[in-house]
Amino acid sequence: VPERPLLDVRDAEVAYGAVTALRGISLRVDPGEVVALLGANGAGKTTTLRMISGLLPPARGSVWFDGARLAGTGSGTGLGGTGTGGGTSGHSGTSGHSGTSGNCGTSGHCGAGAWSDGTRDSPGLPVHRVAALGISHVPEGRRIFPAMTVAEDLAMGAYTDRRRAWSRAGREARREARRDVRRGLDRVHALFPRLAERDRQPAGTLSGGEQQMLAIGRALMARPRLVLLDEPSLGLAPKLVATIFEVIEEINADGVTVLLVEQNAAAALRIAHRGYVLDTGQVALAGSADELARDPRVRDAYLGSP
Ligand code: ATP
Repeated sequence: VPERPLLDVRDAEVAYGAVTALRGISLRVDPGEVVALLGANGAGKTTTLRMISGLLPPARGSVWFDGARLAGTGSGTGLGGTGTGGGTSGHSGTSGHSGTSGNCGTSGHCGAGAWSDGTRDSPGLPVHRVAALGISHVPEGRRIFPAMTVAEDLAMGAYTDRRRAWSRAGREARREARRDVRRGLDRVHALFPRLAERDRQPAGTLSGGEQQMLAIGRALMARPRLVLLDEPSLGLAPKLVATIFEVIEEINADGVTVLLVEQNAAAALRIAHRGYVLDTGQVALAGSADELARDPRVRDAYLGSP
């Protein structure tokens, strides 16, 4: 019996207004894996990550995390609160249309926060609840808080729902929350000694590579089970690219599962267990990293060798 996937995306479709970006994508990430998501510009890689983290609702299909539904329709244990229950009595089960009747389809506005928490027709969990379940998203372009110090920026990453709940729960719980932040910082500093040296420096004054380290470090502060990394090596000098990939391997060795979007297909396939190649919103190829690295279509298009 195969292990239950940690992440299971089933036949998901996402549209930005009239533009359909994902045309029925299915992919899975098993616990402990590094899975690479490859593909040309505009293939839908970023959109896939944004859908998983709850920034975009799927118009069709579903997203599951550790057996629970995050978004879309389908049977099983729903986490969506009212309106997104399983196939037995929930709104989506009876109407079969909760995916297409969401805010995205009707308004055409599928940007961040396209649905509100607790809405009856909500097609999925909002971003903060997905994060609280253990998914951290490091978006492309390293969105750090430039005016904050490195230490403050990292501490922001620890503020998930879980920690907010602790902070309401009394002095001992608050103390435990602080210890938790301290342990997270120690771990991030061990991975990125450079960040420890720059603790008091405004994050906006870090180099591009250091900002990428900070963005990854901040995502790890929430102690995620799954990290979504969008182009972590983009625009970095070769030496830093190597460092970033080493860190991804180290994070994974620590037990964190990784879904990695990369233009640098060769480097991604070196550290990945498996991969998917997207093409115009569909999965064109899937296989082990070795199979993909040997595949002539991948070599031609992404590895720059015949
Ligand atoms: P890249 O490698 O260039 O970042 P990608 O594989 O991540 O590409 P996406 O960013 O997911 O691709 O985009 C998929 C498709 O959706 C593209 O055709 C893109 O133009 C379109 N798209 C993305 N964001 C929007 C938006 N906000 N509004 C309309 N269309 C969008």
